[in-house]
Order: sequence, then structure tokens, then C-alpha cells
Amino acid sequence: MVEKSVILIVDDVPANVQVLASCLKNDYHIKVATDGLKCLQLVAIKPTPDLILLDIEMPGMDGYEVCRRLKADQETQKIPIIFVTASDQEEEEEKGLQLGAVDYITKPIRPSIVSARVNTHITLKLQHDKLMAMAMHDQLTGLYNRHYFFDSADKKIAEAKRHHYPLSLVMMDIDHFKHINDQHGHAIGDKVLQSISQMIKAQCRDEDILARFGGEEFIALFNHCDMNYAYEKAENCRQIIETTALDDLYLTCSFGVVQMSADCDSLENLIKQADMALYQAKEGGRNQVVCADNCLLQEV
Ligand code: GH3
Ligand code: MG
Ligand code: MG
Ligand code: MG
Repeated sequence: MVEKSVILIVDDVPANVQVLASCLKNDYHIKVATDGLKCLQLVAIKPTPDLILLDIEMPGMDGYEVCRRLKADQETQKIPIIFVTASDQEEEEEKGLQLGAVDYITKPIRPSIVSARVNTHITLKLQHDKLMAMAMHDQLTGLYNRHYFFDSADKKIAEAKRHHYPLSLVMMDIDHFKHINDQHGHAIGDKVLQSISQMIKAQCRDEDILARFGGEEFIALFNHCDMNYAYEKAENCRQIIETTALDDLYLTCSFGVVQMSADCDSLENLIKQADMALYQAKEGGRNQVVCADNCLLQEV
């Protein structure tokens, strides 16, 4: 079953909420806030609204201020806002649109106009979400892609430095994967990549960033995670991969682990060290986890 999109109606007058809700409730999941502050509280609660119908004149925080705050917050700035107001003044409408609202509806509400406009903006929002998801993910495995990894890892590293918590990075590479393609064909190779991705993903938390780094290489950034814990996670993955049959095939994977330190606190250096540890794992006979402590960072 397809989940209904969520609309948040914000209005201080219950009768207005009723009218808006009655023309949308068959197609959408409706949430209601009766003032600006409650609106800001509600958007933080899952499921996040896909669209907000926002009254302008409300006691306390008015709709313009609510809009300003939502647009200033990275978490909420992408939620489309439609202002719903009694004023049909051109300058009011202009102000609302300049604040980043996608549309402006005047009261008295005409149900067919409201649902038509809401439908249009929900369709655009869903298309946008789908495009964003495609841009962030690898099509074959469903993991994040390399582009997303580079975009988000820098932020996690900066946070870890600022708050002084441990952060580790792991590079993984499937052993002798070329043989699988050569002996069983590319389609089986693809299936193996998908299965191994899922095995690794099952060992990660939501806040970890796990991405397909290249062909049969994966990369994971674990925050609040020191070298020991990262080693443990990598070792779990290694054992699970080694012992799980994929259509009668047994594969192994090699891992390089590094923890951020004063000497190694940029994404570039973390990757360089993890890659060197991974190289050692390959040289050491594959199917093993090597920590970067064991290797000297050589200038290249
Ligand atoms: P090593 O243990 O040294 O890592 O050996 P390997 O065979 O895994 O490494 P190599 O770099 O020689 O080969 C990687 C292979 O991965 C070659 C390439 O055709 C295959 N590959 C890369 N991307 C994909 C993909 O999306 N699907 C499939 N089926 N194969 C892929
Ligand atoms: Mg009002
Ligand atoms: Mg490789
Ligand atoms: Mg390989």
C-alpha cells in the first residue's frame, strides 16, 4: 500500500482547519497545529509533513515568522509551504512568495481550488524527493553513492572534531571478484554485489554513512565509533560474508580501518590510510581486517 502524503494545516481558527481538512482528508494524512510554535514542534515529529498550509494571521508567532524559521533550518527548508490568508493584498502575497512559499491561497476557501493546488505541489514534492533519492544512491545496491559520501562525510568529520567524539572509517573490497564475473557472468556478479551490500548494511546503524565507493569497493563512516568498535564491526561483516552462501558461492572481503586522530583528521587522509590498510589486508592474504595503526602514512 502506498503511504499517503502528510499535510500539516496551521490555523488558529478551528472552523478554517475543518474546511481545509474536509477537502483534503480523503487523499492525505492530515496533521493540525493551532499556532506557530506548535507548527514548529510538529514538523520535528515523524512523519515529516510533505506540505504545510500556513495561516498568516495568528496570535503569537505569525505565519511569516513560522515560514522564515522553517526556511532557515536545513531539516525543514525543503517542505513546501502554501500560505492561506484572508488578505488578498498584492504586497502580502508578494511577501509570502519572497519568503519562499510555493503558493498563496485566499480565504474564503474554495475546496476545489485548494485540493487542485495541493495536489500539484504534492506531485512536485514527490518528484523532487525521488530525484534527490536517485542522485544520492547507487542504483544497483541501493546504498549511498560516492558523490553523497563525499558530500556528507565532511560534515560528520567537522562535527566529530567540534564535539571531540571518535570517528572511524572503513574501506572494504570484495576478494577476487573478477573471478565471479569471469566464471558465472556479470548478472550473477551483480547479484553478489547486492547481497554483500545488504550484509554490510545490516551491520550499520542509521547514522552511519555506508556507500558503494566503486565497482566492488565499499566505504563506511562510523561516528561515535573508535578503532576497536570499528574493527569489531568490520570483523563481524567479514565473518558473515565468509560464512554466507550466495547461490552456492562463498566470497570473502578485505577491510582497512582507521580512526580519526590529530594527525589524520581530513577525509582525504582518512581514506588514504584506510586504503593503505586495505592494501595490507590484500597483501596479507585477503579475507582479513587491518587497522591503519599498523601502517605508516607515506607521503604520495
Ligand atoms: P582483489 O581481491 O585484488 O580485489 O581482486 P578483484 O578481482 O576483486 O579486483 P579487480 O579490481 O581485479 O576486479 C574487480 C572487478 O569488479 C572487475 C569488474 O569487472 C568488476 N565490477 C565492477 N563493477 C561491477 C558491477 O557493477 N557489476 C559486476 N558484475 N562487476 C563489476
Ligand atoms: Mg488566523
Ligand atoms: Mg577493487
Ligand atoms: Mg576486489
